[in-house]
Amino acid sequence: MNLPWLTSVFNQLTGRFLANRLHHALLFCGPAGIGKLALAEAFSKTLLCQKPSSLGACEHCQSCALLDANTHPDFHILESKKQLGVDKIREGIGKLSATSQLGRNKVLVIPNADAMTDSAANALLKTLEEPTNNTFIMLLTDKVQHLLPTILSRCERTVLALPPEHQSLAWLQQQGLEDASPALLQAYGGAPLKLIDAMNKDGEGLSFRAFNEGVDALLAGSTTALSLATTWQDAARQVVNWCQQRAHKAFIINQRMEDYAAYSESTQAAKQLQHPGINKVIVLTRVLERLTRPTAY
Ligand SMILES: [Zn+2]
Repeated sequence: MNLPWLTSVFNQLTGRFLANRLHHALLFCGPAGIGKLALAEAFSKTLLCQKPSSLGACEHCQSCALLDANTHPDFHILESKKQLGVDKIREGIGKLSATSQLGRNKVLVIPNADAMTDSAANALLKTLEEPTNNTFIMLLTDKVQHLLPTILSRCERTVLALPPEHQSLAWLQQQGLEDASPALLQAYGGAPLKLIDAMNKDGEGLSFRAFNEGVDALLAGSTTALSLATTWQDAARQVVNWCQQRAHKAFIINQRMEDYAAYSESTQAAKQLQHPGINKVIVLTRVLERLTRPTAY
């Protein structure tokens, strides 16, 4: 497990598996961007490995090689961007009912378990109640309150928290993000994988770094609020969110009313952006113009 804040959970799960005391239905819940899927994948590898040890998968057997190549016949993952319907769940369950092709365990991972429709969840219930032999199901969610109580009651829950800041920053630096700072991490809600994802995005979306560069250019007078607002309109909510955090922080430090006004302005803008028909460029321009007032920050 290469995410240090999840190592102890991983070791604990592995220990219980090796002692034959692992529940067949596991629920990993916690904020987005902390590595729930990475944990599920690393642990699946251990469950499927032909020579697992307390360190996890052996990384050398046929099973480990098949997983690395994304072709393991007993590992299934139900990806879903939006809704996860009953057909998809039935398809996943169907795969579990077949005999394991490598003669060991079978694993089904459902990354966005909260995306299951009620009928999909009901279809899954029976499998959770009466699983086929050697079957493990892992449900992942950052919205545990969206899961049916009947599902929750049949899973063993592991609650994962945001990693401690120092651990996230050290890890981000190891990943080559040398300018990772507490402020940058906070801009992504303290979730290190969310930050890495945003930094790795090229062109699509807007990174916090690009936002800061844009604001610096605005403060230096080399661009205008309107020009930035036009470029950033597709990321309007994110931009407003960052402006809001910036103003909030400035107010805490300086206790100036200008900062509070900027904070109110962005809070109001965030509400306005919830209306589908709103002109995002106008809203953003107003929030960004606030940054150029000399006393604002
Ligand atoms: Zn192995």
